[in-house]
Amino acid sequence: MGPKGLILEILSGKEKNLKGVLNPVSATTIKQMEIMDSFFPEAHYDAKKMFELSRANRELLGYDGIMPIFSVVIEASALGCEIDWGDPSMMPRVSNKLWDDYKDIQIKDDFLSDNAVVAVLDCISMLKDRYPDIAIIGKVFGPWTLSYEVFGVSDFLMKTVEEPQEVRDILKKLSEVTLSFADAQVEAGADLITLADHATRDLCSPESYRDFLIPIHSMLAKNIKAPTMLHICGDTSDRIRYITQTGLTAFHFESKVDACEAVNLAEKKIKLIGNVNNPSTLLFKRPADVAEEVVYAIDCGVDIIGPECAVPLTTPIENLKQIATSVKDYNKRVTSKA
Ligand SMILES: [Zn+2]
Repeated sequence: MGPKGLILEILSGKEKNLKGVLNPVSATTIKQMEIMDSFFPEAHYDAKKMFELSRANRELLGYDGIMPIFSVVIEASALGCEIDWGDPSMMPRVSNKLWDDYKDIQIKDDFLSDNAVVAVLDCISMLKDRYPDIAIIGKVFGPWTLSYEVFGVSDFLMKTVEEPQEVRDILKKLSEVTLSFADAQVEAGADLITLADHATRDLCSPESYRDFLIPIHSMLAKNIKAPTMLHICGDTSDRIRYITQTGLTAFHFESKVDACEAVNLAEKKIKLIGNVNNPSTLLFKRPADVAEEVVYAIDCGVDIIGPECAVPLTTPIENLKQIATSVKDYNKRVTSKA
């Protein structure tokens, strides 16, 4: 069984003993840009550059999956937001809010022909051709994140308190963007889809997750035509039980939630991916420390191991590689015992 087969069998629940390794969000770094000779910002919107940089996930890090979408701004760009595309040491960001209210929302018919969107789709097809045996990962943003980008974070959060019905309408409308981009990525060859929706604890209460996002995430889980991995940053222990109710395939969680606690809260209703610490362990510690965290996550019962979130751009390659080495060592031991 190849890496893609392994990941799909783990996510479907068929494979219960072996572990996988990937990052559902960006694992790229400046060092990888240098080695692959492909740099930000071009690698965000040029299919060939995106292809070259993303295949480092396999070629340099040894991961079972390749994630080519490094930024969080592709949909926002296609919707009409101005983007500051950054540089090799800085991720892109949205530089202006687009709309004030639900009634302003206009999703262009040719949304999928936007340059950055087309680059993502072309890159996924190229990866699929070159790496038929590796899990190719697509990524879309959920309507909660898209709302931050098009309405501005504070204006949108005010609405959740003052205009809950408008928020429901907004989320429903913007989830059309999420779904159509996911469909296009699956069509282009994505084996898995990351659904990133930044309903983090400091910006979204567990009750808000329950009331606004369970319905939307359930709809997306039902309609996205590939196993879908939800990513939410930060301490999500107060909403994992709600997330398990959505029918999403997997939850990619951060180290602010202890791996064993996450496994308990998930009650085997959703697969878990994560949760090696980025800002201290991967960025500053040594491979031996990384190995220790990987073993801990495996012992707790996390299904697929990887960095907890998009890695800092100066993360040492040795630490990122160690995650794969430790997972493969574990799998070898399991297989030799069988
Ligand atoms: Zn995160």
